[in-house]
Amino acid sequence: MDFARVEALLAEWGEPAYRSRQVYEAATRILAADYDSITTLPAALRRRLAEAEPLAELGVDDVRESADGTIKLRLTTRDGFPVEAVAMRHRGRRTACLSSQSGCPLACTFCATGEMGLGRSLRSGEIVEQLLALARILRDRGASVGNVVMMGMGEPFLNYENVLAACRTMHDPDGFNLGARHIAISTAGWVPGIEALAEEPLPLRLALSLHAPTDELREQLMPVTRRYPVARLMQACRDYRARTGRRVFVEYLLLDGVNDSDAHARRLARLLGPGPAFHVNLIAYNPTASDYRASSQERVAAFAEILRELAVGASYRRSHGSDIEAACGQLAVTGARARRRQLRRMTAGT
Ligand code: SAH
Repeated sequence: MDFARVEALLAEWGEPAYRSRQVYEAATRILAADYDSITTLPAALRRRLAEAEPLAELGVDDVRESADGTIKLRLTTRDGFPVEAVAMRHRGRRTACLSSQSGCPLACTFCATGEMGLGRSLRSGEIVEQLLALARILRDRGASVGNVVMMGMGEPFLNYENVLAACRTMHDPDGFNLGARHIAISTAGWVPGIEALAEEPLPLRLALSLHAPTDELREQLMPVTRRYPVARLMQACRDYRARTGRRVFVEYLLLDGVNDSDAHARRLARLLGPGPAFHVNLIAYNPTASDYRASSQERVAAFAEILRELAVGASYRRSHGSDIEAACGQLAVTGARARRRQLRRMTAGT
């Protein structure tokens, strides 16, 4: 949904200002998928709009559902970039996991999206539309979206303005109307984004993919560490906490024999310190093309126990939808690289 374009077209055609509100509210509140279902618009205007600017601009290529009820949508932007969005079931509540970019430039070594490289950042309308598409599918099953996490493809803070604009739309009480605390942005540790989020009036949740307590280890897993070392990251999180009073959710992916020892757990606890400023979500590794293996259940339990003994809140996040490659880090669509090459060739030729 390129709402700014719809608004501009309506103004250009001399339509009254309330028309654009009607379109926006129909798309975000009644989840209209096309202009024909917006019956408050005159039929002629519906046709004219449909010809000029489709209400849903992402093409839906594939919908897959896993045994545990996870739904994965595969979409394509108008210029051909693949995007994935996932809806997971968490004890009756549904969480939508959205992409901020097609692909990702940060190249974390355990992540399938990182393998793809960056296609391009998504516009805010393309981010919101992933949510609307999922919400429509869920509605057909009598369910609705209770939470949004920006944990699909991409690094949200490398696309800050569009991600924030999308969050504002998702939150808008006249639109989709999702509580700000039900929207989480997850970052690989892009410090300027953490700093900027601390200044936002909207109280969104912040999640940090930490995955290692030292620079040496984190650099192997997440090359972004060379740019923003762990100490700098922790400082940004502490400043965020001081400024907003909100806690930071730390994600820690447990990789067998890599970052999952008792010593790593103690080091992590020392880094975060006791108390409520941080909460650790331990996550299971989902297989990708890399050589890592998931830690055993016993290891996960022992790691969590050490954190709790040292007064760091910790929980374990089961993975969802791995049978349809919808789980964390498995979102990767073949073709993004080829598409980028093709575009480069096209622009080089002009
Ligand atoms: N770039 C952002 C958001 C996208 S990744 C970030 O890094 O937070 C969302 C989460 O999935 C991150 O915590 C990421 O580290 C994790 N992840 C990536 N690959 C994974 C894998 N193979 N198994 C489990 N989690 C993975």
